[in-house]
Amino acid sequence: MPLVGLAPLLLALGVTCGGAALVAPSPAPRSSGPWSYTTGDARLDARLRAEATSLARVFGVLPNLVLFEDAQNPNAYASERSTGPLSDGTVAIGLTLIARQLGQGARGEQAVASILAHEWSHILQIRQRCMLAGTARELHADFLAGYYLGRRYGGVADAAVAAGRAVYQQGDYRFGDGNHHGTPIERVQALMQGFLHSHLSLPLAYRLGERCALALGTSGPSAR
Ligand SMILES: [Zn+2]
Repeated sequence: MPLVGLAPLLLALGVTCGGAALVAPSPAPRSSGPWSYTTGDARLDARLRAEATSLARVFGVLPNLVLFEDAQNPNAYASERSTGPLSDGTVAIGLTLIARQLGQGARGEQAVASILAHEWSHILQIRQRCMLAGTARELHADFLAGYYLGRRYGGVADAAVAAGRAVYQQGDYRFGDGNHHGTPIERVQALMQGFLHSHLSLPLAYRLGERCALALGTSGPSAR
């Protein structure tokens, strides 16, 4: 996919969060890594921007969203390291991972949303100084991803969660590093529990998710 004509996918565009209007930064951030800000598809870029705006509203954190080439290892991750002007680190998602999900049909965009929600949850964990580690931390992010899908997709949330469930069951969202994310069954259970509690406020869901994650998983290596 072309990586020219950079149009930053900065979630701050038009977002209000916590009552404060956030303004798109200018000039565009300098790249400090192999990042890009467009898929080369204007419609898809708009969908990603919309998703980022929704994620910011639900989770109240403002990472920079960037894209990268991941042909060898379809991947996504969250980092407290900033790659742009926003204050809450970075969520990075690979172009191949996006394309792979979108290639699976109607639920593709919701599958991408479930991946972004998992990574956004890691940013929230960083902000909240989450004490969970390893598998429990990952399952907590899965719980919050389910919570997000429930809030984001409302009447069609069942389909959204089905898309997220498929992501986990396919096993192609494990970062290629063994099973520290939890088994597919554990991940689906965490996702569904979050979805079932999407009526709660975020603070309540966050705490409930911690208990759920601890019950489902075991402590292991640090989260990515
Ligand atoms: Zn994770």
